[in-house]
Amino acid sequence: MPNKSNHVWNAILSSLRAEIPEASFEAWFGEARPIGLESGTLAISVPDGFTKGRIERQFRERIEELLSDGAEEKLSLDVRVANEPRPETAAPRLATNELRTDRSTNLPLNREYTFETFVRGKNSYLVHAASEATAEAVSGELKKAYNPLFIYGNVGLGKTHLLHAIGNSVMHHSPMKSVLYTSSERFAIELINAIRGNSTPAFREKYRQIDLLLIDDVHFLEGKEATQEELFHTFNELHGNGKQIVLSSDRPPEELQGVQERLVSRFRWGLVADIQAPDLETRIAILREKANSRGIEVDNGILEMIASRISSNVRALEGALIKALAVAELQGERLTANSLENVLPKEGQRPRLTIDHIKDEVATRYNLKTKDLEGSSRRKEINQARQVAIYLAREMTDHSFPAIGRHFGNRDHSTIMHSYMKIKSLLDETPLLHVEISEMQESLNARYSTLH
Ligand code: ADP
Ligand code: MG
Repeated sequence: MPNKSNHVWNAILSSLRAEIPEASFEAWFGEARPIGLESGTLAISVPDGFTKGRIERQFRERIEELLSDGAEEKLSLDVRVANEPRPETAAPRLATNELRTDRSTNLPLNREYTFETFVRGKNSYLVHAASEATAEAVSGELKKAYNPLFIYGNVGLGKTHLLHAIGNSVMHHSPMKSVLYTSSERFAIELINAIRGNSTPAFREKYRQIDLLLIDDVHFLEGKEATQEELFHTFNELHGNGKQIVLSSDRPPEELQGVQERLVSRFRWGLVADIQAPDLETRIAILREKANSRGIEVDNGILEMIASRISSNVRALEGALIKALAVAELQGERLTANSLENVLPKEGQRPRLTIDHIKDEVATRYNLKTKDLEGSSRRKEINQARQVAIYLAREMTDHSFPAIGRHFGNRDHSTIMHSYMKIKSLLDETPLLHVEISEMQESLNARYSTLH
């Protein structure tokens, strides 16, 4: 993520995520977006007034505490409803204080994420079976059938849930086994801290004594050379000693760009299994499971209404249910189709952001034609604008580097990756570019949906 407000907001989210139940987290923060960090205030946008109220009542204090943690002055939070005019018009100013990001790297297993609470559907049949078999193999010291197990799928489809389920199952059946769950980002932060503190041997020792290593979101390894190097050795050591490794990613191994080939090939040694979006029937079953686990009875009609309105992301599905229940509770009534109407995303809401929207935005901003961005001109302004558009496409959409290349005059993926990296490194050195890019992001976010 490019700008400071994103950076700060992500740090806050990662703390909050550990402190509140995943589902409430999604309900209240799933659609919150950072807008900017100016004059000691972090502004975020949320989709509706109800969410704004809840965040202000229940979470503001904690967020401001987190915000000010490690900063020199006290920072405050400003929650805005998306698409409402901004209350003030102060020019964006880059704040000088930034949050510390080196917090504890031990990620606990979420007890609610078990095989029992995971609803199996056609979309997840194989991956669910493979996960169970993997957990049994670790517990029973059987020959490891799939090592590593590589799970991939879009955001919010249950990858993290399954990783935790494997970990929980092993901890339950064989408490003596050592299980470690981390994300590739945490792994990277921990490694950096170890290098800074001259404690890499201890870091290595820790990772090499594990029976089951669960690493979430390995797509964030992109471009992180030192981390990849370390993971490569950890992988070899564990694998060589018959220890189990499970990885998750938002794309299959061969589509990971900027990850060393030898690591990618190891990711494919075992079983690569994907999770697809659940069909309507499975979505209803998932909602029922989520309601049951909260001890709440909800009419089938209501579950169906939610499930038919939100189709691609289980996390959003669950968030909508929680929000709906909160609304009903607040109004002291049973959940009805009417009360639901206000909290579900409207059909035909903001259109989904595409690369063409990004090209238009960038072309307008720099007074160019969209065609210039696709073409081959090497003129400095055009070249940089093109790189900015590529950067935004990568940051704000799901497209892989090769797919982005196809939108920019069939450039190959290494050219696209180079452009992306170029802007990423320029951002830190060039405040003006930083502001321009933040403004374009803000404007795109206001008009299009970037949710998965
Ligand atoms: P990912 O890691 O793929 O982005 P998560 O594992 O975080 O997704 O899942 C998002 C939410 O959806 C979690 O609360 C998880 O419990 C829930 N979820 C996803 N798939 C299922 C499923 N098949 N059954 C029950 N809950 C699910
Ligand atoms: Mg996840």
